[in-house]
Amino acid sequence: MQVVLSEAKIQERVLEMGREITRDYAGREPHLVGVLKGACPFMTDLVRHVDLPMTLDYIAVSSYGALTKSSGEVRLVKDLDQGLDGRDLLVVEDIVDTGLTLNYLLRVLRARGPKSVKVVALLSKPARRLVDVHVDYLGFDIKDDFVVGYGLDHNQHFRNLRDIRLYGSE
Ligand code: IMP
Repeated sequence: MQVVLSEAKIQERVLEMGREITRDYAGREPHLVGVLKGACPFMTDLVRHVDLPMTLDYIAVSSYGALTKSSGEVRLVKDLDQGLDGRDLLVVEDIVDTGLTLNYLLRVLRARGPKSVKVVALLSKPARRLVDVHVDYLGFDIKDDFVVGYGLDHNQHFRNLRDIRLYGSE
């Protein structure tokens, strides 16, 4: 499978994003919420470059399942362990494709009273967007290709790849 983003390139960008967040949130204590399972490797790398007091939590929503096309339906599979009231929330996503997942999540999370909400996403496919969602910290824009690795899966496989690759059979 063709490499779209090398491990070195990903790590360099994640470091920059961590530094940006550290700068922007100086004097505050951000609460990072990772979206399972895809955002896991990104989240664990990112938090180690955030040089601030911080807390983290995870939430899980249904994804594409065995298909590679969005059904448009999003379901909460695992809720947060902690409340969001008064917190400076940073939602950490692996990839924003149609934007439907993030749009749904932001609606649910905003209703829980955080002081502020920002979005961190490693990847975005702007050409596929169906709803307008704002990403505050973006790793890379990519083309309308199905990619795997660094948390991203096809049928739950390839999440363990250290780089991001083109999934051939789309
Ligand atoms: P959206 O709701 O269409 O924005 O989809 C977001 C979710 O779809 C992501 O969190 C991924 O789980 C999945 N997804 C979208 N594009 C890809 C891809 O190229 N590879 C793997 N998963 C993807």
